[in-house]
Amino acid sequence: MDFYRLLGVPPSASKEEIKRAFREKAKKYHPDLNPENQEIFKKIIEAYETLMDDNKRKEYDLKRKSNFIKNKIDEEIREFLNLKDKKKVKGRDIKKEVFITLKEGFEGVYKKISYTKKKICPNCKGSGVTENSFIQKCYTCKGVGKIKKWLINIPCVKCKGKGFMIINPCEYCGGEGLIKTEVEKTFYIPPGIQENYLIKIDEGGNEVYKGLPGDLLIKVKFNKSKDIKIKGKDIYRELKLPREKAKAGEYIVIKNIKNETLTIRIPEDIRQETVLKIKGEGYKDIKGEIGDLYLKIIPI
Ligand SMILES: [Zn+2]
Ligand SMILES: [Zn+2]
Repeated sequence: MDFYRLLGVPPSASKEEIKRAFREKAKKYHPDLNPENQEIFKKIIEAYETLMDDNKRKEYDLKRKSNFIKNKIDEEIREFLNLKDKKKVKGRDIKKEVFITLKEGFEGVYKKISYTKKKICPNCKGSGVTENSFIQKCYTCKGVGKIKKWLINIPCVKCKGKGFMIINPCEYCGGEGLIKTEVEKTFYIPPGIQENYLIKIDEGGNEVYKGLPGDLLIKVKFNKSKDIKIKGKDIYRELKLPREKAKAGEYIVIKNIKNETLTIRIPEDIRQETVLKIKGEGYKDIKGEIGDLYLKIIPI
């Protein structure tokens, strides 16, 4: 709030004029008349005290003047950034991994992921500047944006090649226009998904000033033991079995992909590695077609 405007005097007003104006306003806005006047009354006193003190008034006048200039320049910065950012239309994608069990991959599953992404700063709306910011020509490169080093021109390190610097950038984001925010996303993994498949969540990535947010790319990983492999819709699994057991030809009990108990009869006298095909106990493809289980018995 402008102190001169508050008291209703011109910036060139004398102390006498200020005193007169203050008495008038203080009477009019006294909180005894209306408790709602409390705030404005406080401001009137602050204005009066500031403008009656020579040093404080001088300081206030300087600040007031530069604020006028800042506000004007702020518009210019915003315009400038708008122009510059026209090329940059999309924020950066974010890559993440999610681990699922084979059962989850077989049945399909909802997963929740927490991650950090850059969001538009609510304070400066992404421009990095506020009404307190102002632009200053870079003194290192004298506004050119380049400096000479060993006879070649390189981007100025001070202003990162911009030729100007923003003084008093947005204090909330430090002038970046973006702030890191922890977010959560829930997404669906369809049954029959293959390992390393990328699930794309549109606009789940980093936001960008005057542009579209990037995407969130989630790579699906299987949480499984090393002796199990998925190839298409089939499962390849290795099972070590003591020689005597393998020789005798017995029933063995394993858990299938749905975590159900599966009893398998081993043919008699297995001396070498033998692959048993168990129909319909495999993984599935994205169309829902179920494959087989190839169980390799390794006598030890
Ligand atoms: Zn900001
Ligand atoms: Zn510079």
